[in-house]
Amino acid sequence: MAEEGNPYCDVSVPVPVDRSFTYELPVTLRHRVQVGCRVLVPFGSRKLTGVVLRLHSETPAQSARSVLKLLDAEPALDEELLRLARWIAEYYCAPLGEVLRGMLPLSGETRRTTLYDLTEAGRDVARQLIVKPETDAALQVLSLLQDRQRSAEYLAAKVAGAKPALRGLVKRGWVIAEEKHEGKDPLRLPAEKLQAEFLRRPELDIKLKKPERELLAFLELHPGQHNLAVLGETIKRASEAARALARRELIKLEIEQVSVASGFERPVPQLNTDQQTACASVDEALKSGQFKAFLLQGVTGSGKTEVYLRSIETALDLGKNALLLVPEIALTPAMAGQFFHRFGKQVAILHSAFGDAERADQWRRIRRGQARVVVGTRSGVFAPVQALGLVIVDEEHDGSYKQQDTPRYHGRDVALMRAKEANAVAILGSATPSVESRYNADQGKYTMLRMPERIAKRPLPQVEIVDMRVEFLETKKQSTFSRKLVEEMEQRLAQGEQTMLLLNRRGFSSFVVCRSCGERLQCTNCSVVLTHHRRDRRMLCHYCGYAEKIPEECPKCGSDFIQFLGTGSERVEDELHQVLPVARIARLDRDSASGKGSFERILHAFRNGEIDILVGTQMIAKGHDIPNVTLVGVVLADIGLSMPDFRAAERSFQLLTQAAGRAGRGDVPGRVIVQTLNPDHYAIRFASEQDYEGFYRKEIEFRKWLRYPPFAAFANVVVRAEKQEEALRKATELGYLLEPAAEGVRVMGPAEAPVPRLKNEFRYQILLKAAKRTVLRELLNKLRRYAGQEGWSATALVIDVDPISLM
Ligand code: ADP
Ligand code: ZN
Ligand code: ZN
Repeated sequence: MAEEGNPYCDVSVPVPVDRSFTYELPVTLRHRVQVGCRVLVPFGSRKLTGVVLRLHSETPAQSARSVLKLLDAEPALDEELLRLARWIAEYYCAPLGEVLRGMLPLSGETRRTTLYDLTEAGRDVARQLIVKPETDAALQVLSLLQDRQRSAEYLAAKVAGAKPALRGLVKRGWVIAEEKHEGKDPLRLPAEKLQAEFLRRPELDIKLKKPERELLAFLELHPGQHNLAVLGETIKRASEAARALARRELIKLEIEQVSVASGFERPVPQLNTDQQTACASVDEALKSGQFKAFLLQGVTGSGKTEVYLRSIETALDLGKNALLLVPEIALTPAMAGQFFHRFGKQVAILHSAFGDAERADQWRRIRRGQARVVVGTRSGVFAPVQALGLVIVDEEHDGSYKQQDTPRYHGRDVALMRAKEANAVAILGSATPSVESRYNADQGKYTMLRMPERIAKRPLPQVEIVDMRVEFLETKKQSTFSRKLVEEMEQRLAQGEQTMLLLNRRGFSSFVVCRSCGERLQCTNCSVVLTHHRRDRRMLCHYCGYAEKIPEECPKCGSDFIQFLGTGSERVEDELHQVLPVARIARLDRDSASGKGSFERILHAFRNGEIDILVGTQMIAKGHDIPNVTLVGVVLADIGLSMPDFRAAERSFQLLTQAAGRAGRGDVPGRVIVQTLNPDHYAIRFASEQDYEGFYRKEIEFRKWLRYPPFAAFANVVVRAEKQEEALRKATELGYLLEPAAEGVRVMGPAEAPVPRLKNEFRYQILLKAAKRTVLRELLNKLRRYAGQEGWSATALVIDVDPISLM
């Protein structure tokens, strides 16, 4: 007989252990399964989706269970990506199975739910329940599962104490859990993300509510797709009505696709000298076919995008393909438009706003080599680009490249690794490179490409610092805007020019305090204060989303001397209306732009000159190129500086410099007003002088003295538990394991984390600094092994290698 195919496969499943598991392949699958395919396998009492790592005929020592289902006809991950996964798992001390899960297409797009079902034994037990149980949670769960599978959320909503009851039932083998990946349900998404379209008229006997009738009539009269949030501006309760109509299949509701804006086609410009020099170096590297990394340090408005575009052209001419990563917020239709304009159908855009089908389609086009230029955010680094020749990371300093969940990888560093493996060229671009990247360039690891001037020799904006302490002394008033800033805004208004105002804090007031007893209103789940959101009429936790009513009296002492203190972007907007009543003002932050559509709409209106002043959080500081903005105001530069984090200065410097860089990108020179209480802080001073070199020299000196990255390998270990004693005990145990400190290693902690309680969990922290990365990795793995031996839950130990935030 011909080859029979291997009877066994090793599968990596998303569980926190460092090994794969051997399964038997049913005869029917043996010829179809390939390394890199996804399979559904039984695991303990669950069914999990794993990735096949190896096919073989070695009979395992213990009898192997059978693969249940093959999920891919062709491998979801190729050899190159599997190698990259192994590197990530090792470097970030993360379980391979969890790394692989994060790399799979659509992983960000699907909701993971756990479905529970009865086992045979469980069915027997349930059958014996004669009366409907009313008290015991376990019995109630069994009874609910009798008709069909139920999700964890459903059970939790129906039965008090469902979670521990389920754990018990699973342990006894009566209930089995299965992880399900579901596509997003359009009916659950916010209005901004949805498009409504007329389908048909209802049958005569169906009674519709008034808003439903109105909406249906409108859609019938206006054929085509309409954004639901926009409809909501004219039709009352449109969002609710649309969902009801969609359930009756009278209209169609679809997730809004990222639109590609037209009208941003710019003529292909003649490169200036700096651009030419940069492109020439990249071209040479591309032709050599060897790995090489560049740091493109170009001031804001120096034309970095054009260098990317030209380099991609060169790569394509050489028969190679290109991958460009951008920060989440920068991937706007305007940006996509530029790429489509230049490369047409060869471009694939990977964006979280795409629907599942669309995203899967992009993925296939990339793998088949039909899409040769891939533009994506962080997880785009895993796109299956073939014949990769060029990898670009735009705004490489941006914090959104770091994933804040296991595996906690940094998209920039993974991109570099990927380029290296593929013998490709890497370009990291920024006006304010991260301290690490700049240091690497100084050490000769990257080649520097400099573009110190703006296009057309436009001047960098002039920055003026306003000391708000002096302002207070002189005006005897605690005001949000200095006289200077108001005067400048008035001037712009008179000249028909635009202003951007940055305040890096959402909400109206940042905290609420009782004047009588000093109580500050705190989140019930976290040890942080609640922020007052006036428009939503509620107090909101920015960490976990907990919300409550605005208090009329102090919850502690009952006094009504309640004060709302601290300024957020909402208040800035309100006060601005009072100061400049004629100005057209809009706000851009996570509250006002909760859907992709509205973010783009506000930005579009601003670009079109329908708004005079745009108030916003860091969202407005990044990337936007709007020529008529001639004034940027920073309302309070100090927010962020006081964070207990060694990167606080660097982040503030970057934010201020990037914000200033939004001004004066057209023909009129720009001006920047920075209001601060710390005018002497070096981050603020160097940012106001737009002096990256000065900042870097000072910062790198600090890092060297204190042995912070890049002078040491650094990791943050967090222990979490619902009970404080448990978190403390576990952290202490890890502390003992790290004693005595290995050579060249410094252990700080265990200590309370800067936010000691978060989302209902107590948190303790250990910081590790090591002269050698290998030593650090050994220590971290020792901690992980210990947690495994002791049977800690998967979420109890968090390891963050190269953390960018210690909060
Ligand atoms: P950066 O990303 O470095 O801040 P951009 O890439 O946004 O800068 O470029 C700033 C502006 O200059 C853009 O409007 C771009 O189209 C334009 N531009 C880029 N290169 C040239 C050039 N060589 N000649 C004229 N305009 C250019
Ligand atoms: Zn009180
Ligand atoms: Zn909270």
